[in-house]
Amino acid sequence: WPPDPTSAAVCTVGGNLAYNSAGPRAVKYGTPRENTLALEAVTGTGEVIRTGTRTTKGVVGYDLTRLLIGSEGTLAVITEATLKLTPLPEAKRTLQAVYADMAGAARAVSRIMAQPVTPCALEFIDGQAIDMVRPFARIPLPEGAGALLMIEVDGLAGCLDEASERVMEAARGPGLLSLLAARTGEEVQGLWEVRKALSPALRRLAPKKINEDVVVPVSRMPALIEGLQALSQRHGIRIVNFGHAGNGNIHVNLLVNPDDPEEMERARRCLEEVFALVLKLGGTLSGEHGVGLEKRDFVAMELDPASLALMQGLKAVFDPRGILNPGKTP
Ligand SMILES: Cc1cc2nc3c(=O)[nH]c(=O)nc-3n(C[C@H](O)[C@H](O)[C@H](O)COP(=O)(O)OP(=O)(O)OC[C@H]3O[C@@H](n4cnc5c(N)ncnc54)[C@H](O)[C@@H]3O)c2cc1C
Repeated sequence: WPPDPTSAAVCTVGGNLAYNSAGPRAVKYGTPRENTLALEAVTGTGEVIRTGTRTTKGVVGYDLTRLLIGSEGTLAVITEATLKLTPLPEAKRTLQAVYADMAGAARAVSRIMAQPVTPCALEFIDGQAIDMVRPFARIPLPEGAGALLMIEVDGLAGCLDEASERVMEAARGPGLLSLLAARTGEEVQGLWEVRKALSPALRRLAPKKINEDVVVPVSRMPALIEGLQALSQRHGIRIVNFGHAGNGNIHVNLLVNPDDPEEMERARRCLEEVFALVLKLGGTLSGEHGVGLEKRDFVAMELDPASLALMQGLKAVFDPRGILNPGKTP
Protein backbone atom coordinates (compact mmCIF):
# COMPACT_ATOMS: atom_id res chain seq x y z
CA TRP A 1 0.00 0.00 0.00
CA PRO A 2 1.85 3.13 -1.18
CA PRO A 3 1.00 5.80 1.47
CA ASP A 4 4.18 6.36 3.54
CA PRO A 5 3.79 8.99 6.28
CA THR A 6 6.94 9.45 8.39
CA SER A 7 4.91 8.08 11.30
CA ALA A 8 4.35 4.76 9.44
CA ALA A 9 6.06 2.69 12.15
CA VAL A 10 3.65 3.87 14.85
CA CYS A 11 0.39 4.98 13.20
CA THR A 12 -2.64 2.88 12.20
CA VAL A 13 -4.37 2.50 8.83
CA GLY A 14 -7.52 3.93 10.49
CA GLY A 15 -5.57 7.06 11.48
CA ASN A 16 -4.06 7.30 7.98
CA LEU A 17 -7.53 7.16 6.45
CA ALA A 18 -8.99 9.61 8.97
CA TYR A 19 -6.30 12.17 8.03
CA ASN A 20 -5.56 11.11 4.44
CA SER A 21 -1.94 10.91 5.63
CA ALA A 22 0.79 10.56 3.08
CA GLY A 23 4.52 10.95 2.57
CA PRO A 24 7.09 11.37 -0.21
CA ARG A 25 5.61 8.61 -2.39
CA ALA A 26 2.36 10.60 -2.83
CA VAL A 27 3.92 12.50 -5.73
CA LYS A 28 3.76 9.34 -7.87
CA TYR A 29 1.31 7.02 -6.10
CA GLY A 30 -1.15 9.42 -4.45
CA THR A 31 -2.61 9.61 -0.96
CA PRO A 32 -4.97 7.14 0.83
CA ARG A 33 -7.86 8.68 -1.16
CA GLU A 34 -6.33 7.37 -4.38
CA ASN A 35 -5.44 4.01 -2.84
CA THR A 36 -8.64 2.88 -1.10
CA LEU A 37 -11.52 1.09 -2.81
CA ALA A 38 -14.08 0.63 -0.04
CA LEU A 39 -14.77 1.19 3.65
CA GLU A 40 -16.93 -0.17 6.42
CA ALA A 41 -17.75 2.47 9.02
CA VAL A 42 -20.03 3.16 11.96
CA THR A 43 -21.78 6.54 11.93
CA GLY A 44 -22.68 8.61 14.98
CA THR A 45 -26.15 7.00 14.98
CA GLY A 46 -24.58 3.54 15.37
CA GLU A 47 -25.49 2.46 11.84
CA VAL A 48 -22.94 0.35 9.96
CA ILE A 49 -22.37 1.57 6.39
CA ARG A 50 -20.39 0.10 3.49
CA THR A 51 -18.99 2.58 1.00
CA GLY A 52 -17.31 2.10 -2.38
CA THR A 53 -16.81 -1.16 -4.27
CA ARG A 54 -14.25 -3.94 -4.60
CA THR A 55 -13.75 -2.87 -8.22
CA THR A 56 -11.48 -0.15 -9.60
CA LYS A 57 -14.44 1.49 -11.39
CA GLY A 58 -17.85 2.32 -9.91
CA VAL A 59 -20.17 5.33 -10.02
CA VAL A 60 -23.28 4.17 -8.15
CA GLY A 61 -24.27 6.83 -5.63
CA TYR A 62 -22.17 9.55 -4.04
CA ASP A 63 -18.50 8.87 -3.27
CA LEU A 64 -18.77 8.36 0.49
CA THR A 65 -15.35 6.66 0.56
CA ARG A 66 -13.57 9.87 -0.40
CA LEU A 67 -15.83 11.84 1.94
CA LEU A 68 -14.93 9.71 4.96
CA ILE A 69 -11.20 9.64 4.12
CA GLY A 70 -9.77 12.86 5.54
CA SER A 71 -12.88 13.63 7.62
CA GLU A 72 -10.75 13.42 10.80
CA GLY A 73 -13.06 10.97 12.56
CA THR A 74 -15.86 13.54 12.71
CA LEU A 75 -18.40 11.63 10.56
CA ALA A 76 -17.88 7.92 11.29
CA VAL A 77 -15.47 5.41 12.83
CA ILE A 78 -13.79 3.39 10.08
CA THR A 79 -13.86 -0.29 11.03
CA GLU A 80 -12.65 -1.94 7.81
CA ALA A 81 -10.90 -0.82 4.63
CA THR A 82 -10.42 -2.45 1.24
CA LEU A 83 -7.06 -1.11 0.12
CA LYS A 84 -5.88 -0.84 -3.46
CA LEU A 85 -2.45 -2.47 -3.52
CA THR A 86 0.36 -1.62 -5.93
CA PRO A 87 3.15 -4.03 -6.96
CA LEU A 88 6.54 -3.12 -5.49
CA PRO A 89 9.00 -1.58 -7.96
CA GLU A 90 11.98 -3.74 -8.93
CA ALA A 91 14.57 -1.06 -8.27
CA LYS A 92 15.10 2.54 -7.23
CA ARG A 93 17.64 5.31 -7.91
CA THR A 94 18.42 8.18 -5.55
CA LEU A 95 19.53 11.62 -6.75
CA GLN A 96 20.41 14.86 -4.97
CA ALA A 97 20.31 18.26 -6.70
CA VAL A 98 21.53 21.43 -4.98
CA TYR A 99 20.64 24.93 -6.25
CA ALA A 100 21.85 28.44 -5.47
CA ASP A 101 18.32 29.58 -4.74
CA MET A 102 14.74 28.44 -4.37
CA ALA A 103 13.70 29.90 -7.72
CA GLY A 104 16.18 27.62 -9.52
CA ALA A 105 15.01 24.58 -7.54
CA ALA A 106 11.33 25.34 -8.08
CA ARG A 107 11.81 25.74 -11.82
CA ALA A 108 13.60 22.37 -11.79
CA VAL A 109 10.64 20.81 -9.93
CA SER A 110 8.28 22.14 -12.62
CA ARG A 111 10.53 20.72 -15.38
CA ILE A 112 10.81 17.34 -13.61
CA MET A 113 7.03 17.10 -13.18
CA ALA A 114 6.46 18.10 -16.82
CA GLN A 115 8.43 15.17 -18.33
CA PRO A 116 7.07 11.60 -18.57
CA VAL A 117 9.09 9.93 -15.74
CA THR A 118 7.30 10.85 -12.49
CA PRO A 119 9.70 10.44 -9.55
CA CYS A 120 8.51 8.44 -6.53
CA ALA A 121 9.96 11.12 -4.22
CA LEU A 122 10.71 14.79 -4.86
CA GLU A 123 11.57 16.35 -1.51
CA PHE A 124 12.88 19.83 -0.84
CA ILE A 125 14.73 21.69 1.93
CA ASP A 126 15.49 25.43 1.89
CA GLY A 127 18.76 27.30 2.49
CA GLN A 128 18.12 27.86 6.23
CA ALA A 129 17.50 24.13 6.63
CA ILE A 130 20.62 23.27 4.61
CA ASP A 131 22.74 25.38 6.97
CA MET A 132 21.26 23.49 9.93
CA VAL A 133 22.07 20.02 8.55
CA ARG A 134 25.38 20.84 6.82
CA PRO A 135 27.40 19.49 9.81
CA PHE A 136 25.64 16.10 9.45
CA ALA A 137 26.30 15.72 5.69
CA ARG A 138 28.67 12.80 5.03
CA ILE A 139 28.75 13.85 1.36
CA PRO A 140 29.70 17.58 1.55
CA LEU A 141 27.15 20.14 0.35
CA PRO A 142 28.31 22.98 -1.94
CA GLU A 143 28.79 26.47 -0.45
CA GLY A 144 26.09 29.02 -1.28
CA ALA A 145 23.36 26.36 -1.42
CA GLY A 146 19.89 27.92 -1.26
CA ALA A 147 17.75 24.82 -1.90
CA LEU A 148 18.20 21.06 -2.11
CA LEU A 149 16.07 18.44 -3.86
CA MET A 150 16.09 14.75 -2.95
CA ILE A 151 14.75 12.78 -5.89
CA GLU A 152 13.95 9.08 -6.22
CA VAL A 153 13.01 7.23 -9.38
CA ASP A 154 11.62 3.68 -9.28
CA GLY A 155 10.44 1.06 -11.77
CA LEU A 156 11.79 -1.86 -13.78
CA ALA A 157 15.51 -2.45 -13.10
CA GLY A 158 16.32 -2.52 -16.84
CA CYS A 159 14.69 0.87 -17.47
CA LEU A 160 16.14 2.87 -14.60
CA ASP A 161 19.31 4.15 -16.32
CA GLU A 162 17.26 5.95 -18.93
CA ALA A 163 14.53 7.02 -16.48
CA SER A 164 16.99 8.62 -14.07
CA GLU A 165 18.91 10.26 -16.94
CA ARG A 166 15.62 11.89 -18.07
CA VAL A 167 15.01 13.20 -14.55
CA MET A 168 18.61 14.43 -14.24
CA GLU A 169 18.27 16.21 -17.57
CA ALA A 170 15.19 18.01 -16.23
CA ALA A 171 17.01 18.84 -12.97
CA ARG A 172 19.81 20.61 -14.89
CA GLY A 173 19.25 24.32 -15.39
CA PRO A 174 20.00 27.82 -14.07
CA GLY A 175 21.22 27.87 -10.47
CA LEU A 176 22.23 24.19 -10.29
CA LEU A 177 25.33 23.83 -8.06
CA SER A 178 25.65 20.05 -7.88
CA LEU A 179 23.81 16.95 -9.09
CA LEU A 180 24.69 13.57 -7.59
CA ALA A 181 23.39 10.07 -8.31
CA ALA A 182 24.05 7.50 -5.57
CA ARG A 183 25.90 4.44 -6.90
CA THR A 184 25.91 2.28 -3.76
CA GLY A 185 23.58 1.59 -0.83
CA GLU A 186 25.99 3.54 1.35
CA GLU A 187 25.77 6.57 -0.95
CA VAL A 188 21.96 6.37 -0.92
CA GLN A 189 22.10 6.48 2.88
CA GLY A 190 24.60 9.36 2.75
CA LEU A 191 22.32 11.45 0.53
CA TRP A 192 19.20 10.81 2.65
CA GLU A 193 21.08 11.52 5.90
CA VAL A 194 20.93 15.24 5.16
CA ARG A 195 17.13 15.21 4.90
CA LYS A 196 16.71 12.89 7.88
CA ALA A 197 18.97 15.02 10.13
CA LEU A 198 16.59 17.96 9.70
CA SER A 199 13.70 17.02 12.02
CA PRO A 200 15.95 16.17 15.01
CA ALA A 201 18.00 19.36 14.38
CA LEU A 202 14.80 21.44 14.35
CA ARG A 203 13.55 19.71 17.51
CA ARG A 204 16.82 20.54 19.30
CA LEU A 205 16.75 24.18 18.19
CA ALA A 206 13.05 24.89 18.82
CA PRO A 207 11.33 21.98 20.58
CA LYS A 208 7.94 23.69 20.47
CA LYS A 209 8.10 25.14 16.95
CA ILE A 210 4.92 25.88 15.01
CA ASN A 211 4.84 23.40 12.13
CA GLU A 212 2.41 24.11 9.28
CA ASP A 213 1.95 22.10 6.09
CA VAL A 214 0.60 24.42 3.45
CA VAL A 215 0.27 23.49 -0.23
CA VAL A 216 0.56 25.68 -3.33
CA PRO A 217 0.54 24.80 -7.04
CA VAL A 218 4.10 23.67 -7.87
CA SER A 219 4.63 26.67 -10.17
CA ARG A 220 3.91 29.07 -7.26
CA MET A 221 6.55 27.63 -4.90
CA PRO A 222 9.16 30.33 -5.64
CA ALA A 223 6.58 33.03 -4.85
CA LEU A 224 5.66 31.23 -1.62
CA ILE A 225 9.27 30.90 -0.44
CA GLU A 226 10.03 34.54 -1.35
CA GLY A 227 6.89 35.67 0.50
CA LEU A 228 7.82 33.57 3.54
CA GLN A 229 11.30 35.13 3.63
CA ALA A 230 9.73 38.61 3.59
CA LEU A 231 7.28 37.68 6.39
CA SER A 232 10.11 36.17 8.44
CA GLN A 233 12.04 39.46 8.25
CA ARG A 234 9.02 41.69 8.85
CA HIS A 235 7.84 39.81 11.96
CA GLY A 236 11.30 38.88 13.27
CA ILE A 237 10.40 35.16 13.30
CA ARG A 238 12.89 32.58 11.99
CA ILE A 239 11.20 30.34 9.40
CA VAL A 240 12.65 27.07 8.07
CA ASN A 241 10.95 25.30 5.14
CA PHE A 242 11.11 21.76 3.82
CA GLY A 243 8.64 19.33 2.33
CA HIS A 244 7.19 17.46 -0.57
CA ALA A 245 8.10 19.69 -3.53
CA GLY A 246 6.51 17.44 -6.14
CA ASN A 247 3.13 18.12 -4.51
CA GLY A 248 3.89 21.76 -3.63
CA ASN A 249 3.37 20.69 0.02
CA ILE A 250 5.73 22.73 2.20
CA HIS A 251 6.26 22.30 5.94
CA VAL A 252 6.62 25.88 7.14
CA ASN A 253 8.32 25.86 10.56
CA LEU A 254 8.14 28.98 12.72
CA LEU A 255 10.93 28.59 15.28
CA VAL A 256 9.43 30.14 18.40
CA ASN A 257 9.77 29.97 22.15
CA PRO A 258 6.27 29.42 23.60
CA ASP A 259 7.42 30.87 26.93
CA ASP A 260 7.94 34.28 25.27
CA PRO A 261 4.43 35.83 24.97
CA GLU A 262 5.65 38.77 22.87
CA GLU A 263 7.29 36.42 20.35
CA MET A 264 4.18 34.20 20.29
CA GLU A 265 2.02 37.24 19.46
CA ARG A 266 4.35 38.14 16.57
CA ALA A 267 4.22 34.49 15.41
CA ARG A 268 0.41 34.54 15.48
CA ARG A 269 0.29 37.63 13.25
CA CYS A 270 2.96 36.12 10.98
CA LEU A 271 0.99 32.87 10.67
CA GLU A 272 -2.18 34.67 9.61
CA GLU A 273 -0.19 36.37 6.86
CA VAL A 274 1.38 33.03 5.86
CA PHE A 275 -2.11 31.57 5.38
CA ALA A 276 -3.30 34.65 3.46
CA LEU A 277 -0.26 34.35 1.16
CA VAL A 278 -0.89 30.65 0.54
CA LEU A 279 -4.53 31.30 -0.43
CA LYS A 280 -3.54 34.24 -2.65
CA LEU A 281 -1.22 31.85 -4.51
CA GLY A 282 -4.10 29.43 -5.14
CA GLY A 283 -3.09 26.99 -2.40
CA THR A 284 -4.65 25.29 0.61
CA LEU A 285 -3.92 25.56 4.34
CA SER A 286 -3.10 21.90 4.94
CA GLY A 287 -1.94 19.00 2.79
CA GLU A 288 -1.44 16.43 5.55
CA HIS A 289 -2.00 17.64 9.10
CA GLY A 290 -5.69 18.45 8.69
CA VAL A 291 -7.79 20.95 10.63
CA GLY A 292 -8.34 19.51 14.12
CA LEU A 293 -8.58 22.21 16.78
CA GLU A 294 -5.53 24.25 15.79
CA LYS A 295 -6.65 25.31 12.32
CA ARG A 296 -10.40 25.34 12.93
CA ASP A 297 -10.48 29.13 13.24
CA PHE A 298 -8.68 29.59 9.91
CA VAL A 299 -10.89 27.33 7.77
CA ALA A 300 -13.28 30.15 6.84
CA MET A 301 -10.34 31.90 5.16
CA GLU A 302 -10.31 29.08 2.59
CA LEU A 303 -13.86 27.70 2.33
CA ASP A 304 -16.87 29.76 1.26
CA PRO A 305 -19.87 30.06 3.64
CA ALA A 306 -22.09 27.85 1.44
CA SER A 307 -19.54 25.00 1.48
CA LEU A 308 -19.07 25.35 5.22
CA ALA A 309 -22.83 25.19 5.75
CA LEU A 310 -23.03 22.03 3.60
CA MET A 311 -20.25 20.44 5.70
CA GLN A 312 -22.05 21.29 8.92
CA GLY A 313 -25.20 19.76 7.39
CA LEU A 314 -23.28 16.56 6.56
CA LYS A 315 -21.98 16.42 10.12
CA ALA A 316 -25.55 16.71 11.45
CA VAL A 317 -26.71 13.82 9.21
CA PHE A 318 -23.80 11.48 10.03
CA ASP A 319 -23.53 12.37 13.71
CA PRO A 320 -26.71 14.14 14.92
CA ARG A 321 -25.69 14.01 18.58
CA GLY A 322 -22.17 15.34 17.89
CA ILE A 323 -20.41 12.47 19.68
CA LEU A 324 -17.63 11.88 17.09
CA ASN A 325 -14.58 14.09 17.75
CA PRO A 326 -16.80 16.86 19.16
CA GLY A 327 -15.81 20.46 18.47
CA LYS A 328 -13.59 19.57 15.51
CA THR A 329 -15.99 20.11 12.62
CA PRO A 330 -14.92 23.15 10.54
C1 LIG B 1 6.33 11.77 14.31
C2 LIG B 1 5.15 11.98 13.41
C3 LIG B 1 5.34 12.05 12.04
C4 LIG B 1 4.25 12.26 11.19
N1 LIG B 1 4.46 12.27 9.84
C5 LIG B 1 3.41 12.45 9.01
C6 LIG B 1 3.60 12.46 7.59
O1 LIG B 1 4.71 12.30 7.09
N2 LIG B 1 2.52 12.63 6.80
C7 LIG B 1 1.26 12.81 7.32
O2 LIG B 1 0.32 12.96 6.54
N3 LIG B 1 1.04 12.80 8.65
C8 LIG B 1 2.08 12.63 9.50
N4 LIG B 1 1.89 12.63 10.86
C9 LIG B 1 0.56 12.80 11.39
C10 LIG B 1 -0.05 11.41 11.80
O3 LIG B 1 0.87 10.45 11.81
C11 LIG B 1 -1.00 10.93 10.82
O4 LIG B 1 -2.09 11.77 10.82
C12 LIG B 1 -1.43 9.47 11.15
O5 LIG B 1 -2.08 8.94 10.05
C13 LIG B 1 -2.26 9.35 12.38
O6 LIG B 1 -2.52 7.97 12.62
P1 LIG B 1 -2.71 7.39 14.09
O7 LIG B 1 -3.02 5.96 13.95
O8 LIG B 1 -1.54 7.78 14.91
O9 LIG B 1 -4.01 8.19 14.52
P2 LIG B 1 -4.38 8.82 15.91
O10 LIG B 1 -3.40 9.88 16.28
O11 LIG B 1 -4.68 7.74 16.87
O12 LIG B 1 -5.74 9.50 15.49
C14 LIG B 1 -5.74 10.63 14.66
C15 LIG B 1 -7.18 11.07 14.45
O13 LIG B 1 -7.84 10.13 13.60
C16 LIG B 1 -9.01 9.64 14.24
N5 LIG B 1 -9.08 8.20 13.94
C17 LIG B 1 -8.15 7.26 14.24
N6 LIG B 1 -8.57 6.05 13.83
C18 LIG B 1 -9.78 6.24 13.24
C19 LIG B 1 -10.72 5.37 12.62
N7 LIG B 1 -10.52 4.06 12.53
N8 LIG B 1 -11.87 5.91 12.13
C20 LIG B 1 -12.12 7.23 12.23
N9 LIG B 1 -11.25 8.10 12.81
C21 LIG B 1 -10.11 7.61 13.31
C22 LIG B 1 -8.82 9.90 15.73
O14 LIG B 1 -10.07 10.11 16.36
C23 LIG B 1 -8.00 11.17 15.73
O15 LIG B 1 -8.83 12.31 15.61
C24 LIG B 1 2.96 12.43 11.73
C25 LIG B 1 2.78 12.37 13.12
C26 LIG B 1 3.86 12.14 13.95
C27 LIG B 1 3.62 12.06 15.43
